[in-house]
Amino acid sequence: MIILKTSRELELMREAGRISHLALMAGVRAVQPGATTMDVNRAVHETITSLGGKPSFLGYGGFPAAACVSINDEVIHGIPTKRRKIQEGDIVSIDTGAIYQGFHGDNAFTVAAGETSQRCRELMEVTQRCLELAIAAALPGNRLGDIGAAVEEYARSHGFGVVKEYVGHGIGSEMHQEPEVPNYGRAGHGQRLRPGMTLAIEPMINMEGDGVWKDKKDGWTIHTASGLPSAHFENTVAITENGPVVLTRP
Ligand code: MG
Repeated sequence: MIILKTSRELELMREAGRISHLALMAGVRAVQPGATTMDVNRAVHETITSLGGKPSFLGYGGFPAAACVSINDEVIHGIPTKRRKIQEGDIVSIDTGAIYQGFHGDNAFTVAAGETSQRCRELMEVTQRCLELAIAAALPGNRLGDIGAAVEEYARSHGFGVVKEYVGHGIGSEMHQEPEVPNYGRAGHGQRLRPGMTLAIEPMINMEGDGVWKDKKDGWTIHTASGLPSAHFENTVAITENGPVVLTRP
């Protein structure tokens, strides 16, 4: 069932989103050649708690950290560790969320450590643009397929692959609620978007091919089948009468 949020609940989600955004930006600033993925996680975690939030990810399904930190061919769900050093030219995806008074925010960003390749820069720019196009399609009266089609068409027009096994989601008093929000689809098809719906929209775009696999050793990390990089951007978005409102943005 899709839960519609009241204006009071949207206010709480706006605060959860503000905390999530500031934590994500702290993580982005911590991405430097020589830093570890745990350094990034620490910056995220400290920001969430200092702002009166709780990390949504910590303990979720047993996940051991406040942020997922995924480098290059790691698509999502990378586990931060003190051993993993970020190298010059890596692209680093950070995904984090905060709980505030029982409501969640969820957001992700991909950033390069130092100078990276032209193709990696293009991958990040296209993925971020996919997110903006998806948000622009999140209008009341539109359908879920309009969001997915916006992402898929733009990514494929640049020759990139679209991850299909992992998708965006409804969000509110739980981090993951109905509906699923795929990054592919047919315009004009699927669930109709209504005011009060809140969606975590999160394109995961691969440099080559759609395929991914899960690391059996850690049980979490998702890699590209090609071994080439992937990028991930995410915002939590409220559908309103006046159009989409990004809750994870100041
Ligand atoms: Mg999410």
